[in-house]
Amino acid sequence: MATSRKVLHTGGCQCGAVRYALMAEPTRNHVCHCRMCQKAVGGPFAAFAGIKPGDFEWTRGTPAVYASSTLAIRHFCAACGTPLTFRYVERDWMNVTMGSLDDANAAAPALQFGMESRVPWLPHVGMLPGTTTEQMVPAEAMARLASLQHPDRETGLGWSPPKAG
Ligand SMILES: [Zn+2]
Ligand SMILES: [Zn+2]
Repeated sequence: MATSRKVLHTGGCQCGAVRYALMAEPTRNHVCHCRMCQKAVGGPFAAFAGIKPGDFEWTRGTPAVYASSTLAIRHFCAACGTPLTFRYVERDWMNVTMGSLDDANAAAPALQFGMESRVPWLPHVGMLPGTTTEQMVPAEAMARLASLQHPDRETGLGWSPPKAG
């Protein structure tokens, strides 16, 4: 079901089973600190890029859907769990999770929602000491590290993790 319209951005889940395309530039980009978004992404807030449903298309696989309230639904990948969308069902508007876009810098938030639940430590994160992944992971382990996430690896190839200690 490839679209005939010009694709401006693409995205998908970590395993690659579910993919989508945006046919317009995202707007109304925001972070949401509400408790539902915290739970939905398993993090302190959700970051969303906004798009009209008519400018959005699923291009691979079928997402799972969860109604987090009587007003809203959230799509996610049932295979790997990646949160993909948030949408108020009665509005002609939806959001994709910024982290699921192939270009993580395709959109930047301009608004914050759900301020009543914002974690108090959030403003301090930017001031914390930081390291890169290469600095954190020993060189010996980096040499063995192979990404299993899409698109580094095609979906459905299978791999079994070694037994945990
Ligand atoms: Zn997936
Ligand atoms: Zn929210």
